[in-house]
Order: sequence, then C-alpha cells, then structure tokens
Amino acid sequence: MRTVPDFPKPGISYKDITPLIEDGDALHAATDALHGATKHLEYDRILSAEARGFVFGTALAYRARKGLILARKPNKLPRETISASYDLEYGTDILEAHADSVSEGARVLVADDLLATGGTARAMCDLVESAGGTVAGVAFLIELGYLDGRSRLKPYEVVSLITYA
Ligand code: 5GP
Repeated sequence: MRTVPDFPKPGISYKDITPLIEDGDALHAATDALHGATKHLEYDRILSAEARGFVFGTALAYRARKGLILARKPNKLPRETISASYDLEYGTDILEAHADSVSEGARVLVADDLLATGGTARAMCDLVESAGGTVAGVAFLIELGYLDGRSRLKPYEVVSLITYA
C-alpha cells in the first residue's frame, strides 16, 4: 500500500490500496487473512459499500461462499430500498440497499476496505438493523487507529488486519 500525502485535499494522508489490489498474491493473501479473521462470526451474508468495499466484499463472499449485499449511493438500485445517512466533513451522505436483501434475523457481516471515522460502517450497521437483521461483526483491511472509528461501532465486534496507530 502507498500513503499519498495531501489527497484528496491538503492535510489528508490517504492510504492507497490499489497496489495491493493489483498484485495477485497480495490480493489473495489479504482475502484469505480477512476470511480467517472473520469466520468465527457466523454470518449469513456480507454487506459492502461502493466502490472499494465491493472489491473486498466480493473476494470475501467468494472465499466464504456467502452472498453479498450491495450498499450504494442514492438512486442506483432499481427496487425498493432502505437507507441510512452518515456525516461527512461538510453535510451528510446516504447509503441504500434493497429492502429485501436483509431478512428478519439474518446475521450480516459488514466489510469495507478501510475504517477511518467509522461513519460509513456505522451507516451500514444501521441499514442491517433497520431491516431487522443482526450485525455479526464489522471487518476492515485497514484501520486508521488515530481516528478512533471503533468507538462509533460499539457494541459490534470490529476486526481489522492492519492498523495505522
Ligand atoms: P469513514 O466513514 O470511516 O470516515 O471512511 C471510510 C470510508 O471512506 C471507506 O469506505 C473508505 O473506502 C473511504 N476512505 C476514507 N479514507 C480513506 C483512505 O485513506 N484510503 C482509502 N482507500 N479509503 C478511504
């Protein structure tokens, strides 16, 4: 992975995961490691958000032989949706999923590439619970520990493979 200073704006130290995705051995190892770290959570489906979340959500779903639920920006999904909003630095954003993707009582693993402030993952957990499902856990490849996103994800079990302290 590469750290890119001042992206997308001055003062932000962006973790670029595209080198890992482009390397077959690294992507394979990361997927296996994510699978190993989450298989005790006993989930029925995975929920991931566009766009980088789809990369690891899909790889993990394939590895675990589980279905993948897509969380998308508004008005991208064709059928009835449920939605959850989350705070951005300026304003709010919304994630949507198909209303029938999470059945009552289903155990859902929320998976994303990176945990920063926790807002995106929290919105995905809200989506699961608003549909009557249970959050089995929340998994990330990378955690920016210094932003303390974990505190927004209480009481869920949070798994991350690499932490930048
Ligand atoms: P949060 O909602 O936790 O503040 O931000 C996490 C979301 O923003 C994730 O979906 C992630 O893809 C994206 N994100 C935030 N910061 C970075 C970063 O430094 N690198 C990458 N690859 N994604 C980031």
